[in-house]
Amino acid sequence: MPQDRERPDACPGAVDVHQAADGGLARIRVPGGTLSAARTDVLRTAALELGDGWIELTSRANVQIRGLAPGAEHELAARLRDAGLLPSRTHERMRNIIAAPLEDNQDLVDAIDGALCGLPELADLPGRFLVTVGAAVSGLGGDIGLVGDALFLAGRDSGLRVTDPVAAVVRAARLFQELRGTAWRLSEVDSGVRKITAALGGPGSEVLAATVIPVAPGPVGDRVVAGVPLGRLDARLLAGAPVRITPWRSVVVPAGTDTSGLFTDPESPWHGVSACTGRPGCAKSLSDVRADAARWIGTPHAGRVHWSGCARRCGRPAGDVVEFVATGDGYEEIR
Ligand code: SF4
Repeated sequence: MPQDRERPDACPGAVDVHQAADGGLARIRVPGGTLSAARTDVLRTAALELGDGWIELTSRANVQIRGLAPGAEHELAARLRDAGLLPSRTHERMRNIIAAPLEDNQDLVDAIDGALCGLPELADLPGRFLVTVGAAVSGLGGDIGLVGDALFLAGRDSGLRVTDPVAAVVRAARLFQELRGTAWRLSEVDSGVRKITAALGGPGSEVLAATVIPVAPGPVGDRVVAGVPLGRLDARLLAGAPVRITPWRSVVVPAGTDTSGLFTDPESPWHGVSACTGRPGCAKSLSDVRADAARWIGTPHAGRVHWSGCARRCGRPAGDVVEFVATGDGYEEIR
């Protein structure tokens, strides 16, 4: 639906932090979700020394450090820059690239990231801008997506087939920036998909379905997928481990990595349970939802469960989900 946004999007960045009820909140983009062991340790140490000791995983496989004291964002930015986690001051908030986490696609992700960050005219793309790489994440609503040689636009196969995927993503991003006005997402631009598709050569006839194929906890070849309870990673864990963050609040690590504090069993009671920030991080919250959800863990449940601290229900997953919404006097269960 076309929308005219009255204000620029206010997504937090690593430098322009959001002031939350529990201090500064920095969102650090990790294109493709891949962190070397050294970069994992930079984030862990920063969370322990400058933040509240936790690393939050987002649904875009980015990370957040919260509880920053006033001014601590400068020290954080310096550490991130030194580690190569902040390659562009001007483009940092638009570097949202989700990649299928079990595929060998990080080189492609890095090439796309480098090309987008190299163009000054793309610095003002919204913080909500999203690129997806791979079939498993093609249904996550990217503005631009790649599945093999298929170019997706606004979360759907455009029908276009490309020979140079990096150049195609860059062209589509430039066209989106030219067309978007005040819109944050391509889906909000009137005839945006049609115009970009036409500019890139017109659609073909074969169209792929968009899919979301979450990775379940457990071993996968020489790696293991480890779920992170409620998406909050204790920053004392995973010391010295290379990590690939998934969009499903889990990490892929080499087999043999110490995963204590995480869960690798798909039958774990933590699997499928999520929660919004709640108290003390969100001033609107009526309760400490994460603590309440943690106390509830162990109660038999099937499928997805999401806990919210107020009726805004932030972070509610798509699809079938049982919700517990704080009312100030307990929780309302919504099915
Ligand atoms: S659902 Fe309410 S309490 Fe939870 S993060 Fe959103 S605004 Fe805050």
